[in-house]
Amino acid sequence: MAGVAEVSALRAEALARIDAAADAQALDAVRIEWLGRKAGRITVLLKAIPSVPPGERAAFGQAVNALKAAVAERLEARKAALEAVRQEGPAVDVTLPGRRLALGKLHPITRATREMIEIVGRLGFEVVEGPEVEDEWHNFVGLNIPPDHPARDPLDNYYLKDQVLLRTQTSTVQVRIMENRKPPVRVVAPGRVYRPDTVDAGHSNMFHQLEGLWVEQGVTFADLKSVLSMFARAFFGPAVRTRFQPSYFPFTEPSAEMYVSCLLCAGAGCPMCKRTGWIEILGCGMVDPNVFEAVGYDPEAVTGFAFGMGIDRQAMLKYGITDIRLLFENNVRFLRQF
Ligand SMILES: [Zn+2]
Repeated sequence: MAGVAEVSALRAEALARIDAAADAQALDAVRIEWLGRKAGRITVLLKAIPSVPPGERAAFGQAVNALKAAVAERLEARKAALEAVRQEGPAVDVTLPGRRLALGKLHPITRATREMIEIVGRLGFEVVEGPEVEDEWHNFVGLNIPPDHPARDPLDNYYLKDQVLLRTQTSTVQVRIMENRKPPVRVVAPGRVYRPDTVDAGHSNMFHQLEGLWVEQGVTFADLKSVLSMFARAFFGPAVRTRFQPSYFPFTEPSAEMYVSCLLCAGAGCPMCKRTGWIEILGCGMVDPNVFEAVGYDPEAVTGFAFGMGIDRQAMLKYGITDIRLLFENNVRFLRQF
């Protein structure tokens, strides 16, 4: 059995072990070694007190209890010191891997629209907008489309009530702008239009158009050609060639369709351009004098041209999208590619 001297000698060993514990786990191991309920080294000594000869018992008991008190006190002190260090440490563990942010992207339609607006903006065109719910005056009458015109068939339009419908074209904004402004007018109107088409790879009953209008004294077909050719080269690339083909629209005279050389085969002929080497991208023409009269402009004083194109169609051509429905399904795996 250890004597009082040995018990006192243990004190230095126990305190050194406590001070050497580097963290809470190590400190707990030291505590169990010395004060553990069953086999702690001090616990064993405490249990041995009754078996010490009566003459030495009091001194021995006193020594063991003093050791226990000293060890318990140093354990508390060390624990507090370790906790203080942990709290003072940096709030953010800079060694942890970062959390990846889910970055959003612009929808291809938004991207194409913004790019178009930027290009025509450089040519002096201002962006204007109009309502998607229109009356017959702005959607048809003001655009020189008479009541018996097939475009006004109720089956070809989303009528909401008598004489009120979802606009079928952004040309409506032309009429609204000319009603409210005196020339010169140089505007583009991007927006959604609605037609009850059967939905397939090439058609949607909702799509986007960009309408342009330039009215001023002395605007000619040469201005139309140069503005639209510049637009095509800026949007599709400097190598693209353009071609104008006579066409018919009720609100322009003369009217034309503009073609660009096929983006895929550069004019050689391929399935995308139906072997012609050309792709139609927009309709255009000189504003019909009847339209000027309808909005109160003097057709003898000003001339102008208008153009309209499908934004979805241009985006599909530019980004190589083959099915218009992909644009509106909002499948993230598709949209992430752009
Ligand atoms: Zn081609």
